[in-house]
Amino acid sequence: MKPANLRILTVNGGSSSIKFAVFEAGDPLRRILEGGIERIGLPEATLRVKGVNPADNFSRLVTAPDHTVAVGALMDWIEERSGRDALTAVGHRVVHGGPKYSEPQRITAEMVEELHRLSPFDPEHLPEEILLTEAFHRRFPDLPQVACFDTAFHHDLPRVARLLPIPRRYEAQGVRRYGFHGLSYAFLMGELARLAGTEAALGRVILAHLGNGASLAAVHHGKPVDTSMGFTPTAGVPMSTRSGDLDPGLVWYLARTGKMSAKQFNEMVNFQSGLLGVSETSPDMRNLLDHETQDVRAAEAVALFCYQVKKWIGSYAAALGGLDTLVFSAGIGENCPSIRARICDGLGFLGVKLNRKRNAKNAPLISPDTGRVKVRVIRTDEELMIARSVTRLLHLGSMRKT
Ligand code: ADP
Repeated sequence: MKPANLRILTVNGGSSSIKFAVFEAGDPLRRILEGGIERIGLPEATLRVKGVNPADNFSRLVTAPDHTVAVGALMDWIEERSGRDALTAVGHRVVHGGPKYSEPQRITAEMVEELHRLSPFDPEHLPEEILLTEAFHRRFPDLPQVACFDTAFHHDLPRVARLLPIPRRYEAQGVRRYGFHGLSYAFLMGELARLAGTEAALGRVILAHLGNGASLAAVHHGKPVDTSMGFTPTAGVPMSTRSGDLDPGLVWYLARTGKMSAKQFNEMVNFQSGLLGVSETSPDMRNLLDHETQDVRAAEAVALFCYQVKKWIGSYAAALGGLDTLVFSAGIGENCPSIRARICDGLGFLGVKLNRKRNAKNAPLISPDTGRVKVRVIRTDEELMIARSVTRLLHLGSMRKT
């Protein structure tokens, strides 16, 4: 019988979506399918699949009132397409690893218990992620599952960057800066070394992951120095619907004058703020750019985003004592020349300059050859990072299924 390739499914559960990809083990890993279930909780929930083989492409409505049912639809499709033994392992993006987890790990009953304990750290993501791992375990009890933590990259942040300036006793409960988008940052640092060489990757680097969720990380000697998200992913720069950093005094003001509860405040800063809150029309950068000349609210939302990202770059250049490489990534960072130009405008004093033609083409290097700071656009790939971690942890690289 012809040996079949080992297959790894990566699962990335968001608040209303599940993204996934299927990789064949090998060097390099080969992505054969990717897709997602979107609009979970709504009647028009949709399963979308795209394959290297166009015959695999399809999109269909599924019943997915919650994540457990949605992942059921995903598992049905996996079985339908390739049978029960189609997968060798599943790798999950787990947003919060708390103080304990810093490396990818096999998911065990003890880990699930610990993740339940950690759930109050991240009530927006962890409960759904636990449901996904449990659903897979029920359907495929022998299938190894691996958790890859989005906080892991920042695990060794210097203490001064980790400490929050509140009473010290809260630190003992795990209240500190954790940072997120770690899978993306780990991938980007690997790509930077591959594309620009080890020396560049060991230099003073700022990574700007600008998608619906957005954050920046400062890295030196390949090690994390600081990152803009904090105890939760709500901190840092303004995002599609999250506020980013705010004056903490606002909580009490809104409680006093608007009778806002902590729960309502949390809802506001996570789902009604950022680009959506300021524009009052859309959380999506493309839409805002389309309307910025007609709608001052769209223009202000875009300006606020660029201004804040610029300020974080400035503060991280200070933390790093200068800057050698600036990397733009994720939906906005990879695809949007005008946003990159507005962010970099005025950063000439740091040595940041753009080459207009390269920037317009989303070229891998968008600074001039003579630029003191190399400004790069690198496509991130969190799914591939998960698949690599699973391969390494389970030693799948050299194995084949017979
Ligand atoms: P997520 O955090 O959900 O993975 P993405 O990385 O896909 O988000 O980023 C989504 C954001 O990227 C949206 O604001 C979208 O408008 C923006 N984006 C994607 N393509 C472009 C583009 N060509 N120009 C401007 N913005 C873009």
